[in-house]
Amino acid sequence: MNVDKTTPRVARAMIKYLDIAGYEKVVVATDPDVNLHAIIAIHSTTRGPAAGGLRMRQYASFDDALRDVLRLSNAMSFKNAAANLPLGGGKSILIGDPLTDKTDGLFQSFGRIVEQLGGDYWVAEDMGIGPDDIALIARETKYVAGLPSGPFAGGDPSPVTAEGVLKGIRTALKYKTGAGAVEGRTISIQGLGHVGLSLCQKLVAGGAKVTFSDLDREALAKAEELTGNRCLAPDAIYEAPADVFAPCAIGATVNRQTIPVLRASVVAGAANNQLGTKEDADYLHELGLLYAPDFVINAGGIINVAAEILRIREASRWVENKLDELDATLDHIFLKARDGDHSPLHVAERLAAQRLLP
Ligand code: NAD
Repeated sequence: MNVDKTTPRVARAMIKYLDIAGYEKVVVATDPDVNLHAIIAIHSTTRGPAAGGLRMRQYASFDDALRDVLRLSNAMSFKNAAANLPLGGGKSILIGDPLTDKTDGLFQSFGRIVEQLGGDYWVAEDMGIGPDDIALIARETKYVAGLPSGPFAGGDPSPVTAEGVLKGIRTALKYKTGAGAVEGRTISIQGLGHVGLSLCQKLVAGGAKVTFSDLDREALAKAEELTGNRCLAPDAIYEAPADVFAPCAIGATVNRQTIPVLRASVVAGAANNQLGTKEDADYLHELGLLYAPDFVINAGGIINVAAEILRIREASRWVENKLDELDATLDHIFLKARDGDHSPLHVAERLAAQRLLP
């Protein structure tokens, strides 16, 4: 599957292209001077330039990293289509520890690689990356969004992602129970990073009860202070009595092992690729758990990024309208799923695939 096509130089970085079926362009870049190991995957530009975040994390192997970025960029095509944005799907990763391996040179080198792609791919924040990192990338490329300042700057998209997830939780609750208010409901949040903590704040403000887990002490301390609740051990979150389980950490935590112990009746959260496999959506459906497809419910952040890429004036109103449109799409997906006795994922994928046709 991997054919090394060319090896041009971008300043000091070496880049090569891999041929991977179903993807328009996959770029592997290395820059030994700044310890850069990056992959950019462009899944589709049928709807417009590919847009999706940059993730920084340590991977066990190059193949793990490649698998992750391919899955994520495919999901971005679906997400941008579900949100009806004139954008294609792409994603990028930097292999490294976001706590210890960040340098100005690393991000500037990455920016030069994005610039070299000539606008086929627009980068923004994902896990491990914040607006300050994005500002460094922007020194070298104009194809960047999620900037902390400047004309059309949208800043950190995470609060908008959290707002979209909150709307989706309400819609799922309304569909499942007849009442969409979060007041008095219990929501278990897995992961209290940029999105999870913002969601936690919004839920508490709306009168919900929250339980939560994270691996990071600092993140937990913030949530404990906000809610007055104690955190749960990472594995205990699945069994916690709740109305909604909101995965907001890494992917694949909703799987064959965890689904049977879930005590919530709704799964609705921000994490990308939260199911272990696609079949897990059918398993949730069989057990009567309502699943809000991740690439639909978590599209708030890319909507915010899109406002910046598309240089929308009065962006906050536009973003709010797009979030409402997205929520109506989720409602439609739930109804179609009930009519056809399918999992909502099945309906959401069909809708996105239709919108991705050339
Ligand atoms: P983040 O890196 O800020 O936070 C992730 C948190 O999850 C961290 O606090 C981490 O310690 C915690 N975590 C990791 N593994 C865990 C585990 N097994 N159990 C409990 N906690 C664990 O990331 P983020 O930006 O908040 O994004 C969270 C998820 O939402 C990711 O999957 C991301 O791809 C997705 N997402 C984010 C955005 C956005 O706007 N940031 C948009 C769409 C989707």
